[in-house]
Amino acid sequence: MPTKYIIVTGGVASSLGKGIICASLGRLLIARGLRVTIQKLDPYINVDPGTMNPYEHGEVYVTDDGAETDLDLGHYERFLDERMSQKNNVTTGRIYFDVITKERRGDYLGKTVQVIPHITDEIKSHVLKLGNSEDYDVVLVEVGGTVGDIEGLPYIEAMRQLRYEVGRQNTLSIHLTLVPYLAAAGELKTKPTQHSVKTISEIGLSPDIIVCRSEHKLDTGIRRKIAQFCNVEVADVIESLDASSIYEVPLLMQREGLDERVIEKLGLPCKNADLKRWTEFVDRVKYPKHTVRIALVGKYVEHHDAYKSICEALIHGGAMNNTRVEIAWVHSDKLGDISAGDNDSFAPLLDADAILVAPGFGDRGINGKFAAIRYARENKVPFFGICLGMQCAVIEFARHVAGMEGAHSTEMDVNTPYPVIDLMSEQKDVEKMGGTMRLGKYRCRLAEGSKAFEAYGAQEIEERHRHRYEVNNELRDQLEEHGLLCSGINPEKNLVEIVELPNHPWFVGVQFHPELKSTVYTPHPLFVKFVGEALKYAQQKVAAKSGEGSWDRSGDGSDLHSEENIGR
Ligand code: GLN
Repeated sequence: MPTKYIIVTGGVASSLGKGIICASLGRLLIARGLRVTIQKLDPYINVDPGTMNPYEHGEVYVTDDGAETDLDLGHYERFLDERMSQKNNVTTGRIYFDVITKERRGDYLGKTVQVIPHITDEIKSHVLKLGNSEDYDVVLVEVGGTVGDIEGLPYIEAMRQLRYEVGRQNTLSIHLTLVPYLAAAGELKTKPTQHSVKTISEIGLSPDIIVCRSEHKLDTGIRRKIAQFCNVEVADVIESLDASSIYEVPLLMQREGLDERVIEKLGLPCKNADLKRWTEFVDRVKYPKHTVRIALVGKYVEHHDAYKSICEALIHGGAMNNTRVEIAWVHSDKLGDISAGDNDSFAPLLDADAILVAPGFGDRGINGKFAAIRYARENKVPFFGICLGMQCAVIEFARHVAGMEGAHSTEMDVNTPYPVIDLMSEQKDVEKMGGTMRLGKYRCRLAEGSKAFEAYGAQEIEERHRHRYEVNNELRDQLEEHGLLCSGINPEKNLVEIVELPNHPWFVGVQFHPELKSTVYTPHPLFVKFVGEALKYAQQKVAAKSGEGSWDRSGDGSDLHSEENIGR
């Protein structure tokens, strides 16, 4: 069977949830036994989102092969339970970079290099690379941006050409639009959809299926109207209502018959979709037995997309514990000094059942992170530090437990007397030439009996990285002597990947980004454990309040903590 290509475009407005629709359709097709991948075509001129501001672009999603990609790839992995790679994300910057490199090399033999055919050919070659790999029955291509945008035109043109090159019967065009509700008129409006479909049809990619994002149900009249004006059958008008959880969208799409229409139109021989496991997961998310509050301490907290994968991994970990995780967003900039009596700024932490200190770059808000970590360490509140969060935990420990006054990371303070976080010597020369990061998948060996080992239930794991600095091996002994356990080590370079405190119920810091590997079907073990510990903490708190039991938070059997010194 030749590979089928499903091209998904969006119109009317941005942020309609094209990525989730693609991921949901992908999940439905996989559930029918097909081999599916998704490719995102991004119309911006950055070569990749690696250098883009998290406020503007949200999180940078890193794949196993170290590609820095759009956060939609995170949705693809979480829904499909399939690994993405550099091949799955193409930007205009990348396309032009490749074309200009070829031009400089003389590959075009003196021809005038133009958008058509050279840029469009390059776009097609990226799509076909996935399609021709023989690894997939279906390649879903999500075209970023909104139809009508100037920068999106070469992509649409390339997809138009692709349809003829691989055969129309092997391709399908799905268009996602908005059907707004005008409260004053009490009506859903189809005109924006008509216009958007007209625009995309004019440039040669008329939709076979129209997915309508709407806050209200589309009645038969509306569906008929859209079908009639947009050249599709009524059954090809798919309603996409707002869902309480993104994980419900595959189920809603199945109910609307999206996958049914797709397989019929593409003539795909496949079984019915089995979504039993998915439905169970959604039920756990929607009807949890417990709730915990987790404080997420970071510096981009106004923009939740900057921590997308962490939020999703907390949902996955929560589902495994039948627990809803409420996130208390805590701006590290705003955390004062609790030891100086600044309790107000700490209120969200005092209220939390666990504390997560997020990844990040640069020193803004760094003292707030140390303060949050100190609070978690001293009060035995479950703590999870990720990347910069782990580095901060090491610094805090060095300063306040190991007696290394002024300890810091050389990222923030090059003159620190104790550079507990530093560049590796081999990196220092590279750094002068522009700097590189440790990106993508690395091995990590776990210490038996550690909390990490207990969570993973394995001796060796692989996790994804995106950072420049490392725990300084020259000061490691000094940290370990004072009780810091380096429980995960990269065997190739002898780098510290995980630290923990054995005399604390759950204090774990990881140099890598575990959130990137958490999926619906494979929730990340550290997140499962972390939420589990938060739940335990919350339940002990309740029990202590009602005087039912002693509150042992020590992790070594001694009952150190009372209601008062937790600050409630
Ligand atoms: N800024 C730190 C480093 O480069 C941590 C990066 C991160 O948290 N992703 O090492």
